Amino acid sequence: MLQGKVAIVTGGTRGIGFAVVKKFLDNGAKVVLFGTKEESVQSALIKLKQANPGYDVMGMHPDITDMNEVAKAFEEIQKRYGKIDIVVNNAGISARDSLYSYKEEDFVKIMNLNIKAVFNCSKVGASYMKQNGGGVILNTSSMVSIYGQAAGCGYPASKFAVNGLTKSLARELGRDKIRVNAVAPGVIHTDMVDSLPEEMIKPLIASIPIGRMGEPEDVANAFLFLASDMASFITGAILSVDGAGMC
Ligand code: NAD
Repeated sequence: MLQGKVAIVTGGTRGIGFAVVKKFLDNGAKVVLFGTKEESVQSALIKLKQANPGYDVMGMHPDITDMNEVAKAFEEIQKRYGKIDIVVNNAGISARDSLYSYKEEDFVKIMNLNIKAVFNCSKVGASYMKQNGGGVILNTSSMVSIYGQAAGCGYPASKFAVNGLTKSLARELGRDKIRVNAVAPGVIHTDMVDSLPEEMIKPLIASIPIGRMGEPEDVANAFLFLASDMASFITGAILSVDGAGMC
């Protein structure tokens, strides 16, 4: 579904991002995954090469909260592959502090990664896509962007902002043949969820009508669809992948 496409996936070293990287590679894309550290990038690349030595994948670790680093990394990718077709803004962090104990620097940290880095990669990515005749920007939102969250207000606030950026850029960039969509996952079975105690996980699952947590691959399938030409008339959408659960 993505034969010959060049894709960048931020936060591609584990969890949902890693599943997206693998799904895109399995569908014929060349992928550049971004991580935070050389070691995590290398270990993700080793896992992928073990799964399929034929994958066309490389890794980088720019600070995506810094526009200059993003510009340098994207320039290198454009030089290497001659184009950038798809940018998946997936890297994100959360916190569940109460408002009363929320530290200002933690709020800023969440905003820097969850929204400013999305802006940075979208801005630089879109300029190459425009030159190349079009492309796709995909963002990772969350079910909390619909319902809010009873603690850790910075995280849902950042995901509401991701939705705002998605809908606004879809309207702004349509004329440049750039589609912009977001996927809003519910409770997904990643390392973060695995680290929660059993007594927290059980009621969580019980509250999901479809009767299970989502797997990273469920989310990756939605990204694949939105990245592909099957979604050629879809832009500005926030696609829920949450089993109809409500947090
Ligand atoms: P994860 O913690 O497993 O992975 C996060 C990724 O982000 C990692 O690859 C990490 O390298 C990268 N990252 C973290 N800090 C970074 C930084 N400062 N700079 C650059 N990259 C950084 O998370 P996940 O659960 O796979 O989540 C991926 C995305 O999905 C996030 O945007 C998250 O908000 C969203 N999401 C997750 C769930 C869930 O249940 N897991 C639900 C809704 C939305």
